[in-house]
Amino acid sequence: MLINGNWADANEGTTFDVINPANGEVVGQVPDGDAATAKAAIDAAATAFGSWSKTTAHARSAILYKAWQLMLERKEDLARTMTMEQGKPLRAARTEVQYAADFLLWFAEEAKRTYGETIPSARADQRFIVSHYPVGVVAAITPWNYPVSMITRKVGPALAAGCTVVLKPAEATPLSAIKVFEILAEAGVPDGVINLVTTSNPAPVGEEFVSNPLVRKLTFTGSTAVGKMLAGKAAGNMKRVSCELGGHAPFLVFDDADPVHAAKGVQLVKFLNTGQACISPNRIFVHQSKVDAFVDTLQSRVAGMQAGSGFEEGVTIGPLVDERAVTKVSAQVDDAVAKGAEVVCGGNRLISNGLDKGFFYAPTVLRGVTPDMLIYREETFGPVAPIITFEDDQEALKMANDTSYGLAAYVYTRDISRAMRMFEALEFGIIGVNDINPSAASAPFGGMKDSGLGREGSREGISEYLETKLGGFAI
Ligand code: NAD
Repeated sequence: MLINGNWADANEGTTFDVINPANGEVVGQVPDGDAATAKAAIDAAATAFGSWSKTTAHARSAILYKAWQLMLERKEDLARTMTMEQGKPLRAARTEVQYAADFLLWFAEEAKRTYGETIPSARADQRFIVSHYPVGVVAAITPWNYPVSMITRKVGPALAAGCTVVLKPAEATPLSAIKVFEILAEAGVPDGVINLVTTSNPAPVGEEFVSNPLVRKLTFTGSTAVGKMLAGKAAGNMKRVSCELGGHAPFLVFDDADPVHAAKGVQLVKFLNTGQACISPNRIFVHQSKVDAFVDTLQSRVAGMQAGSGFEEGVTIGPLVDERAVTKVSAQVDDAVAKGAEVVCGGNRLISNGLDKGFFYAPTVLRGVTPDMLIYREETFGPVAPIITFEDDQEALKMANDTSYGLAAYVYTRDISRAMRMFEALEFGIIGVNDINPSAASAPFGGMKDSGLGREGSREGISEYLETKLGGFAI
C-alpha cells in the first residue's frame, strides 16, 4: 500500500491472495489493509492537500504528462499484469492501458483550463468573479473489470484539479493498481498526494471513506447496490459524490439497418471483456424482418471465438472474474431457457482443455427472449447476447427505456431522422449511433437513473473535483 509516500505492509503483516481467473492459481499477495490504514491514508492526504492545492496547474499538468509517458512506456508490463489477475486477452489489456493513459494526457491538458468567469452585475458598484478550487481529499473506489483505466479516469482529474486522493482498488485486481501508483509516484506526485489502500474486506474501508470528515468527495465505480449504499452515507455527511454504476444497455437494430453490420457490432461489443462491461449490450432488440440475417451472422462470428487464457495466441474471450459470476450467468441462461428462450449457441460452462480450473462460460446467443425472464431486467455482466424481436419503433423505444438503468444504448439505422429521434428519446447517458465504441477520454462518460451521478472524462470530468467560489466586490 502507498501511504504518505511509503510503500507499506498492513498492520501485523496480513496479506491476501490474488488469483488468476483463467486457472485459479495464486499470482500474488498484497497487504490486507483495514479502516485504520484508510484513516492513516486520509490523514496523509489531508496534510498533503495544503501544499498540493497551491501548486500551479502547469506544475500539476507536467507531472500528469510525465505519468502519461511512463504509462505508455510500461504498456506491456501493465497489460500482462492485468491479463494475469483479471483475465482479459492481452490485446484487450493493451488497449485498456492506452485508454487509461489517454485520461492522464487529457487531464494534464484540462488542468490548465479550469477557467473562471466574470459576470456583469445589475449594480454599478459591484463586480462578480467566479473561480474554481479543488474540493479537497478525494476517496476513490474502483472495480476489477477495467482495473487500470478506472483508476486514471478518477485520479487524473482529481490531481489535475489540485485534490489529493486515497484509492481502494477492487480486491480481485490490486496488482494493476499498485503498478499505476508506482508510475504516478515516479512521475513526481509528492508524498501523501496519492495513497493506495488494498484490502480483502472493503466494507470497513468504505465506511471510513464516507464517515471521515476530512474526506470531501467520494468517487465510486461498481455495482448499483454498493454505490447507492455508499452515496447515501456520504450524502448524510454532505460529501460530494460521483458514481459510475451498473447498466442494462439496449441495442436497437431497425428494419433499415444492415443486419450483418449490426451483428458484427454486437459480437465485438457484447463479448468484449467477456461481457463484463457496464456499457455491454444486455438486451438486443432486432426488427422482425432482419432477425434471421442478424442471428446467422452473429452465430457464425461467435462460433469463431476462442476461449482460454488471455496469454494464449488466438484467444478472443477470457474467463469471468470468479465462481459467483459463473453462477449468475448460468442462472440467467437457465431461467431464460426454462421460460422458452432458444439457445442459438453456447449456454454452458466451459470445462474441457483445462478450462475447468478457471471461470469460463461459453459465448452465448439466446433468441426469443421475453420480459418475464431475469435476463431482461438484471444486468448480466457475462457473455450472453439475448435477442428480442420487435415490429414498430415506438414499441422498441418503450422496451429499451423500460429499465431502471440509464448508462449506454446503441441504435443501428440508416435513417438520420430516426437516429435523431432515438438519440433524443432514449433515457441513457451514452448513445452509440451505428457505433459500438462511444467512449474516449475527451467524451463525457456516465449514466442516468440507477446508473449513477456525474460524468467522467471530457471537460466535465474535472469539474467533479472543483468547488465554485463567487466573489462579489463592491468598488
Ligand atoms: P462491487 O460494487 O461489488 O465492487 C466495486 C468496488 O466496490 C470494489 O472496489 C469493491 O471492493 C468495492 N466495494 C464492494 N462492497 C463495498 C462496501 N461495502 N464498501 C466499500 N466498497 C465496497 O461491484 P462488482 O460486481 O465488483 O463490479 C462490477 C459492477 O461495476 C457492475 O455492476 C458494473 O456495471 C459496474 N461498473 C460500472 C462502470 C461505470 O463506469 N458505470 C464501470 C465498471 C463497472
